[in-house]
Amino acid sequence: MDRTILHSDANAFYASVEAAINPELKGRAVAVCGAAENRHGIVLAKSELAKRMGVKTGMANWQAKRLCPDLVIVPPHHDIYAKFSRRLHEIYERYTDRVEGYGLDECWLDVTGCPMSPRAIADELRAVVKKELGITVSVGVSFNKVFAKLGSDMKKPDAVTEITRESFKNMVWKLPCSDLLFCGRATTEKLKTFGIFTIGDLAKAPPALIAKRLGKNGEMLQKYANGLDDSPVAKVGEEEEVKSVGHGITCVADLTSIDEANVVFVALTQDIGQKLRYLNLQARGIQVTVRDSDLHFESWQQLLPEPTQCAADLSKAATALLKTRYGWRKTIRALTVSAIHLESVNDPCQLSFFGSDPKLRRVEGALDKIREKFGDGAIKPATLLGDNKLPEEKPAQSPPPGGIQH
Ligand SMILES: [Mg+2]
Repeated sequence: MDRTILHSDANAFYASVEAAINPELKGRAVAVCGAAENRHGIVLAKSELAKRMGVKTGMANWQAKRLCPDLVIVPPHHDIYAKFSRRLHEIYERYTDRVEGYGLDECWLDVTGCPMSPRAIADELRAVVKKELGITVSVGVSFNKVFAKLGSDMKKPDAVTEITRESFKNMVWKLPCSDLLFCGRATTEKLKTFGIFTIGDLAKAPPALIAKRLGKNGEMLQKYANGLDDSPVAKVGEEEEVKSVGHGITCVADLTSIDEANVVFVALTQDIGQKLRYLNLQARGIQVTVRDSDLHFESWQQLLPEPTQCAADLSKAATALLKTRYGWRKTIRALTVSAIHLESVNDPCQLSFFGSDPKLRRVEGALDKIREKFGDGAIKPATLLGDNKLPEEKPAQSPPPGGIQH
């Protein structure tokens, strides 16, 4: 029997949560920005309205403001996003015990065998989330996880898209390969070089060619394109142990110096620190992966002086690691940083700059050391990011749920 999988994705999650907790923001163009008080901060997330005005993730605050003069800039509230994420899970768990999170704002649900029709469940989920949390979700409904996720991206906000065995060739095959889960920019570019542009092209390509040119990853993507994905939705409490928490980005313009790379690390590690705190984990090591302008990969790992879940420690270590190991024979197209060798923390530190707790002082200490080493700009993402190094909205390649295996 075919499974019924839903993928629910909260629309413009950070900005929507900000509007849900502060009704004055409702219906306005909102951007959640690092260093919100500083015109050189960068946009971390934006509302639907801000997006329509051209505001993009990674843009400097001043650029966003120029595009959208009425833009309301607010600082991020990661703890509140984590709370909303838990409440979303609680709602999903009323329908099934198979609920698997993917990031803070996305979830798969396996509702196979539920008496309600899949679309009715999806519509009810939308309504319940809107009523109880004041935010909207887009839901994809399909017979596997990959197409359910694709469906949740096809119509937003506050919508349902169903992809069936009968309809997937019509609905999915015309889309670009990059819409497929785990088809990052390098893979997309490589596929283009041998004439594969759409998911349909990939589905119908000679398997031997794909295997030869793209290896295991290519074979997996070709299966996905043909609707062959039987990976299960994890049971609540039985999600795969997280082995790493990583975040990557492909830069619109290549990075040419360690200072530019540092700015990207500072931005990427914000999300990693947040996720570690959410999962109650700390990292004992760090991994940096570089894809250069020739699309070659290089990757290095290092243990950290002490376990941490603080973004500043991670970005500092990532920058130091890249500085000692990368030769800059080529400029850098994409960067990924991962927190590895994870262990649980019994007493998670809340990242704050003003506390008196020794852990918090240590955070401040780490930031001070970065300032000493790289100058004040090192902790203000946009200062070095400048106008032309805007990261793409899409991660270079998201690690699979459960993290990258080592
Ligand atoms: Mg989302």
